[in-house]
Amino acid sequence: MDFRDSPEEAAFRAEVRAWLAEHLKGEFATLGSRGGPADETGWDTRLEWERLLGRDRWVGLSWPEEYGGRAASFAQQVVFQEEYAKADAPARVSFFGEGLFAPTLIAYGTDEQKRRHLPRIQAADELWCQGFSEPNAGSDLANVQTRATLDGDEWVIEGQKVWTTLAHRADWCFAIVRTEPGSTAHHGLSYLLVPMHQPGIEVRPLRQMTGSAEFNEVFFDGARTPRDHVLGEVGQGWKVAMATLGFERGTAFMSQQLGFERELAEVIEIAQRNGSAQDPAIRERLAGHYAGVQIMRYNGMRMLTDLVQRGVIGPQASIGKLYWTSWHRALGETEMAVLGTDAMVIGGKPGGDYELDELHHSFMASRAETIYAGSSEIQRNIIGERVLGLPREPR
Ligand SMILES: Cc1cc2nc3c(=O)[nH]c(=O)nc-3n(C[C@H](O)[C@H](O)[C@H](O)COP(=O)(O)OP(=O)(O)OC[C@H]3O[C@@H](n4cnc5c(N)ncnc54)[C@H](O)[C@@H]3O)c2cc1C
Repeated sequence: MDFRDSPEEAAFRAEVRAWLAEHLKGEFATLGSRGGPADETGWDTRLEWERLLGRDRWVGLSWPEEYGGRAASFAQQVVFQEEYAKADAPARVSFFGEGLFAPTLIAYGTDEQKRRHLPRIQAADELWCQGFSEPNAGSDLANVQTRATLDGDEWVIEGQKVWTTLAHRADWCFAIVRTEPGSTAHHGLSYLLVPMHQPGIEVRPLRQMTGSAEFNEVFFDGARTPRDHVLGEVGQGWKVAMATLGFERGTAFMSQQLGFERELAEVIEIAQRNGSAQDPAIRERLAGHYAGVQIMRYNGMRMLTDLVQRGVIGPQASIGKLYWTSWHRALGETEMAVLGTDAMVIGGKPGGDYELDELHHSFMASRAETIYAGSSEIQRNIIGERVLGLPREPR
């Protein structure tokens, strides 16, 4: 595939760049590289930024025009993500709504559901969270035990979710729940849309070593949602959930190697400044990280080629996820080695809350990357079984 911009893509790139140059100023410009998992820095400013993006239809680029989108091609979406990453714009607060829920809604929702939710997601008036994981259903997602039963025209929900990122900020949750009593595995599940602001829902934050508490336990004790707030058919939730997971492992992470390039450049600069770049072991690690970024870039291109030519994301998504998360975790370790004894010093009051600078934060947050969106072990299983054709894991 030819990766040079076509005249239309070049014009689109110029439009994105000009918009970012005009709007990414002041407080917005100070939030580059902050936000994302385990970091709630500048939440209100990022929400304001999201509203600005939505107002000018940069949220929901790929959506059909009748729902407020631009019906952008894959190539245009990648152009937008590249320019966004190059400009070091703030991490998005609508990742779950725009990145995971909206594409699933477009694929499986009724027209009424699309008209109801898509414009509100675009305007950042509705924030969403993903209620999939439970204490005994993470990698083994089909073991979901949270249940919903019909009471007249409403579902009544009982059970618990865990690791629900941004549940404390969200207005809605897309959750997989068991709607067929006595069903097991992936049978009898439904994909429910649940309003978060109601008496039957309790959200308890989980504090992490980064100091932030952006993910939560969510308890449902008689929470309610109308009967028609099901995405896809009742009992067919597994199929819909798999579509969401496909979006999670796919395009959303495509252009992040640009952010990694910037992070690596910063580490190299520090290593040159504090003299650690003279250490052959550090030099070798930095060179390895540089090679890794190039590998990520080419794997991203392979994924894009597949997406454009076949319309689906192939197993490259698993290879990509496994690779970038291991690479970033190793970079975090190199960052601490480059900082040397300075790595032991963090801000804040002794015995009180502490403050992390960007490198410490990135190092700690990278430990979670090999877990969420499918752990490294699970990605290896997918690659082993679906790419290499190895025998299936005994279950
Ligand atoms: C930062 C972060 C944010 C998250 N946000 C959300 C969210 O918003 N919504 C949500 O629903 N979930 C979220 N999660 C949950 C995440 O999807 C799960 O943590 C993940 O799927 C792993 O599940 P688990 O934690 O139950 O671990 P388990 O599935 O219990 O796994 C424990 C260990 O065993 C390994 N393992 C499990 N099964 C196998 C197997 N068959 N073969 C080999 N090894 C195996 C795993 O790889 C892992 O190392 C988040 C997690 C993190 C860390």
